[in-house]
Amino acid sequence: MIDVHIHAVAPNLPGTGNLAPLLREAPEKVAAELRREMQTAGVAQVFAMGAWNTGADDPLGINRTLEIAPFVPGLRPIGIADPTRTDDEHFRRVELILASGVVVALKAYLGYLHFEPAHANYRRYYELAAKYRIPFMFHTGDTYSPQAKLKFSHPLGVDEVAVDHPDCRFVMCHLGNPWMTDAAEVIYKNVNVWTDLSGLMVGDDGAFASEEGREAMTELAHSIQRAIRYSERPNRFVYGTDWPLAPMTAYREFIKEAIPPEHHEQVFEENARVLFRLR
Ligand SMILES: [Zn+2]
Repeated sequence: MIDVHIHAVAPNLPGTGNLAPLLREAPEKVAAELRREMQTAGVAQVFAMGAWNTGADDPLGINRTLEIAPFVPGLRPIGIADPTRTDDEHFRRVELILASGVVVALKAYLGYLHFEPAHANYRRYYELAAKYRIPFMFHTGDTYSPQAKLKFSHPLGVDEVAVDHPDCRFVMCHLGNPWMTDAAEVIYKNVNVWTDLSGLMVGDDGAFASEEGREAMTELAHSIQRAIRYSERPNRFVYGTDWPLAPMTAYREFIKEAIPPEHHEQVFEENARVLFRLR
């Protein structure tokens, strides 16, 4: 099982705070907790979002994840594309990292940062993602920050860059929740657009087990099923949790219920192998 969307470090975005207190602990402590969760849930690989705006020496915000990675087999970082940086020296450093093969994807924090996907400052990142054959992920949908602006995080913005960059594979994180049908249309229309199923339900084990939580998951399951049917592309849906915002085992069970059994192999592993070109 592959979880393509977790957080091992605080994202450092305007208005988000720590995301979870655990992420401010020492790397060994985060690693121990993450390993335990992965083992319990039967997850072999996890891809972790970097942090924004971490300085010139860490142009993709992955250094702290790389401190944790030696303690967690299967953990690999996702670099953050910073649209506020436009200088050649920055992109020279970014390209060195991509050429080394250490990051599995790039990600843009739409909404949190007030740049739409088609903004010119993202273009060089898309070209690099295509050149190094890694996917480009977008936060889409609702945000955790009152300072975010939703017009930048609507999935429709991804359609434009999917058309203009046919050599790049794009991923809309969180299925654009709550705009899941809109996200499904973008997947239906564009063969180079994928989605992850992370962060659709957040909270602790108690929240997942509560009556309210179960009702919410039933509604979400219907929306996910409709999106798969509408898009006609079950091979474009990949599993993710948004851990530590949700427990890995409870989230796995939620997605197992939501996805038709004939697509489990694809969603929990095969689609990610194809998308991220693993082996
Ligand atoms: Zn996330």
